[in-house]
Amino acid sequence: MHASPRIGGEPVRPCGDAGFDLSADVGAALYRRVMGRFATGVTVVTALADGAPHGMTANAFMAGSLEPPLCVVSIRKAARLHGYVSASRRYAVSILAEEQRHLSDHFAGRRVAGMTPEFAWVDGMPVLVRGIAGIVADVVDTSDCGDHTLFIGRISRMGARSASPLLFFAARYGRVETSEPIERVGPMFW
Ligand SMILES: Cc1cc2nc3c(=O)[nH]c(=O)nc-3n(C[C@H](O)[C@H](O)[C@H](O)COP(=O)(O)OP(=O)(O)OC[C@H]3O[C@@H](n4cnc5c(N)ncnc54)[C@H](O)[C@@H]3O)c2cc1C
Repeated sequence: MHASPRIGGEPVRPCGDAGFDLSADVGAALYRRVMGRFATGVTVVTALADGAPHGMTANAFMAGSLEPPLCVVSIRKAARLHGYVSASRRYAVSILAEEQRHLSDHFAGRRVAGMTPEFAWVDGMPVLVRGIAGIVADVVDTSDCGDHTLFIGRISRMGARSASPLLFFAARYGRVETSEPIERVGPMFW
């Protein structure tokens, strides 16, 4: 009879005990389903293409480092934006407000008829107006990530306003349900 494995004195529980099965058969459908369980905000990442703005909806965006100030965005190699960011080595990130779902759809390729996105220009970079925050960054490093590239940007400009974000979870949009003012900052964990 085998003794059950232990980590740090605690018996290791079979994976079904997590409340769900953890399959070793990692295909596209399962990958999308599981990764979609990570709730995010929604951004539009912009870069210049021959001097004109090009935008792409992205939720694979994250804080990178506080000192120095870095952020990271993951862009599919097949996306047009990938070529523009690779060439210009700069990007801007507009974090969308709850009422900007149409912009998320539009910049994901589901064109909204009659809609002309409005940009504000910051250090020569286009940031969408009426988002909840904006960032301008210079690419300082890249990392190959399969069919995507991670673009690490050093932040040169950033700012935010007090408004509710657009959320994305399980391939659906959502909103933050809170009666607390956005400016009431919670505990700082990092
Ligand atoms: C919620 C969500 C999150 C996503 N996250 C990511 C992610 O993290 N990484 C990733 O690689 N993909 C992500 N995608 C997919 C990505 O947004 C699409 O594949 C997108 O179409 C790829 O853009 P593209 O650069 O190839 O350009 P296109 O598909 O050619 O452009 C996107 C759309 O934006 C319009 N557009 C661009 N610039 C302008 C402008 N200046 N004025 C007016 N319209 C303009 C284009 O006409 C087109 O309709 C996400 C999609 C969604 C819905």
